[in-house]
Amino acid sequence: MKFYSTANKFHRVGLREAVIQGLAPDNGLYMPEQLPVLSKSFFESLPKLTLREIGFEVANQLLGKEVSSAQLHSIIEHTIQFDAPLVPVEEDIFSLELFHGPTLAFKDFGARFLAALLGHFANEQNQVVTILVATSGDTGSAVANAFLQVPGTRVVVLYPSGKVSEIQEQQFTTLGANITALEIEGTFDDCQRLVKAAFLDPDLKHSFFLTSANSINIARLIPQSFYYFYGWGQLKYQGPVVISVPSGNFGNLTAGIMAKKMGLAIDRFIASTNMNDVVPGYLKTKAFQPRTSVATISNAMDVGNPSNFARLLDLYQDDFSKFSSEVVGFSASDAETMIAMQEIYKATGYVLDPHGAVGYWGLKNYLRKNPGKGIFLETAHPAKFFQVVENALQVPVSVPDRLLKFRQGTKQSILMKPDFSVFKSWLPSLLTQ
Ligand SMILES: *Cc1c(COP(=O)(O)O)cnc(C)c1O
Repeated sequence: MKFYSTANKFHRVGLREAVIQGLAPDNGLYMPEQLPVLSKSFFESLPKLTLREIGFEVANQLLGKEVSSAQLHSIIEHTIQFDAPLVPVEEDIFSLELFHGPTLAFKDFGARFLAALLGHFANEQNQVVTILVATSGDTGSAVANAFLQVPGTRVVVLYPSGKVSEIQEQQFTTLGANITALEIEGTFDDCQRLVKAAFLDPDLKHSFFLTSANSINIARLIPQSFYYFYGWGQLKYQGPVVISVPSGNFGNLTAGIMAKKMGLAIDRFIASTNMNDVVPGYLKTKAFQPRTSVATISNAMDVGNPSNFARLLDLYQDDFSKFSSEVVGFSASDAETMIAMQEIYKATGYVLDPHGAVGYWGLKNYLRKNPGKGIFLETAHPAKFFQVVENALQVPVSVPDRLLKFRQGTKQSILMKPDFSVFKSWLPSLLTQ
């Protein structure tokens, strides 16, 4: 399989280059040159397949020959160590729980797949690979934990100071070993800008084997398509299925649309956001107007300039009418997010995290006018955002053991201004240690 840049379809590279570069040299994002439609028998057997079996089939189509079947089996095994159950919460509403991984958010899927794939490439190349990752909270923890102690890898996590939850912060600042946390005095967008600038900097590129673990990396997206197939299979429903995706950088939605292009019968997607509603705004007005992000209670979605928008446009070949016929926008205020959490809890006892709550509310609104069955992605465990959840529900949230263990560590981070020249002069000191 070759991968092209969204900025120039003639720029094509192999899997290894696409994964190691992360961002294409022309600033575009890599996309597989084909999205092969899976066989009829695959779709018929979906309800019986395990998540690993589905992962193998889908990845095998998307990765091509650069990874052998045996290597792919081991990558899938490293990636999928946990389930993604579809849980009924109301008559026509189902929660696809993506938080059963080690850091309790869906980002474990992408991060673990990427770590396994990069470990494989670093090993082949016999060189230490440095992973730069900007995070609004959950990416950092998923990536740091996926790469922790992986030989031949070093991770630098850039996060906005004071803008991630305490638990999120603990998950990537307490690990030590090959993980370093940079606390940036700015916003998530500043962190993302520094990472992008590093990749485009010829000096850094020349001296270090640098790569990215952000959702701009195509290897993050591929495993995120697995659970759309799996969720659909568990639903066992022949009528129109709609999936609501609580979104920030829009990697998850991109992966869902890729699954649809590979033949999965999803009628429609709902692009559900918090007040950072650039994409719902685009779907309403045709104008894409990125802006500075605002802080909300669903902070992992506080993104003002979603990087995967280029991929969404690419998937629809810039055809607005096709895009807007398959994807519906929705945005929830913090007050609505709270109400969503309260209503579903009162009616069913189900505890949502604030991100899943945005997805649920988008779905609920949609189904009111368009009857059918719907799935929303529950992207994080409520304990990860327990302050918000306890504030909304006035009941204590139980915290799983795998989250508690992070609380015992000591925070280690390096405070830095959001200035590329500062970052650039600091980086070599770390990498030559
Ligand atoms: C990252 C994240 C999102 C947003 O996902 P994107 O792929 O960036 O749109 C939603 N919910 C949670 C809990 C997240 O961590």
